[in-house]
Amino acid sequence: MSKLFKRTKILATVGPSVFGEEKLKEMVYAGVNGFRLNFSHGSYDERDEQINLIRRFAAERGKSVAILQDLQGPKIRLGDVKDNHFDIKEGDELILESAPIVHDGGMTLPVQYNLAEKVQVGEPVLLFDGKIEAEMIEKVSDSAIKIRAKNDGYVMSRKGINLPDTDMGGDVITEKDLADIEYGASRDFDYVAMSFVQNANDIEKLRQVMVSYGSTARIIAKIETKRAVMDDETMEAIVRAADGVMVARGDLAYEAGAEIVPIVQRKLIALCRQYAKICIVATQMMGSMVENPRPTRAEVSDVATAVLLGADAVMLSDETANGKYPIEAVKEMKKVILYTQSHSKILPLSKEVTGEYKNYDAISQAAVRLAEKIEADLIAVGTSSGATADAIAAQRPNIPMVSVTSNPRVAGQLALTYANSAYVRPFAEGYVVDLVQELKANGYLKMQEGQKELTVVFVSGLRDEEGGTNRIEVRKI
Ligand code: PGA
Ligand code: MN
Repeated sequence: MSKLFKRTKILATVGPSVFGEEKLKEMVYAGVNGFRLNFSHGSYDERDEQINLIRRFAAERGKSVAILQDLQGPKIRLGDVKDNHFDIKEGDELILESAPIVHDGGMTLPVQYNLAEKVQVGEPVLLFDGKIEAEMIEKVSDSAIKIRAKNDGYVMSRKGINLPDTDMGGDVITEKDLADIEYGASRDFDYVAMSFVQNANDIEKLRQVMVSYGSTARIIAKIETKRAVMDDETMEAIVRAADGVMVARGDLAYEAGAEIVPIVQRKLIALCRQYAKICIVATQMMGSMVENPRPTRAEVSDVATAVLLGADAVMLSDETANGKYPIEAVKEMKKVILYTQSHSKILPLSKEVTGEYKNYDAISQAAVRLAEKIEADLIAVGTSSGATADAIAAQRPNIPMVSVTSNPRVAGQLALTYANSAYVRPFAEGYVVDLVQELKANGYLKMQEGQKELTVVFVSGLRDEEGGTNRIEVRKI
């Protein structure tokens, strides 16, 4: 088999379970295509070490591995509660106070965010990932609100708070995020993921901030609020404003109800395919593997569904960050992807692809049809900005593809793109002739037993420039 194999990619979250050289190396070799660094935790020093290791092992392995910076955004958490456990009864009235107070066991709990600025009377406030449902009943001061619990239960320290009906008013980039974006710009992350996006304006704002810090990372919008999925137009506008989306099923289920998640997932994957953007399916894909060495049938089926719908990437969170079996989780996921993609076609899209450039869409569609018809061994694409590669990937070829680029940055950004493998090579005269031999020498093309010749469909432009793609060639060697 050629080394271009997994068409749906694996994004794994870095956490204590995979800290250190040995584990990160194993992860890269087991099939991880991108790592998510969760900026809700950890120091810059730790980050620097992880980035260096990831880049080193990727180079050693000879593949591009993306690094995704996941900004915390307005992820709201409780502060510390006394003895890490606080019982709540239906009808209890609690004060959520954003000042740095210490919980004394009473009804005033510390929160790491000023809710008084955003939450309106009557809006729901969900504590401990939705285990306690409460309602805002009064603004007590400029930094505190009073809520009334609607059911019995308990909370623990630092558990999440969700505000499904609250308008964040465009305030989804926090002070901490700004510092993290500045740091990220200096480390050349391939992607920046924005949490709790409510609409396309939030993305525009982030893009401006990133430009001001000199960052050229691609933006992934995490879809995890009720507002973002309120109607199809909002979802579509977010997809178009971003470079990709993450179906952030964890918070989305708390905010909008678990029952809507499968339909939202289908809609978002279809929109991303239509607009040639990246779609990542996240959270609990192999959730039971935090504790167990094997996934459940339901989890296997969930990963297969994402593959069949044509997701670019599937994500591992707790499984690799805090789980007991991080390497096994990657291997199991890879098995499901490989089996599924080789035994079924992905579901066709009902709309035409409308990517960044019309001519790329047309050429890509023709190239992929041609390649499939003549049963080519490889689609190779010369790409300077990555846009032609995106356009071809959006056609969801069931043939391996390699993107040839002179820009290593573009190679990193294509690591999570459907079916893409990147090969970095300077553009030069006589390029195509040498290229096919070079790809063969580097393991991108391999003769199967009994095969006499290899066929490559090559999509390119006469010059290495954006917007210049205008050629499809068939080469046999
Ligand atoms: P998180 O995002 O893991 O950063 O919360 C994903 C999700 O909410 O599903
Ligand atoms: Mn989330």
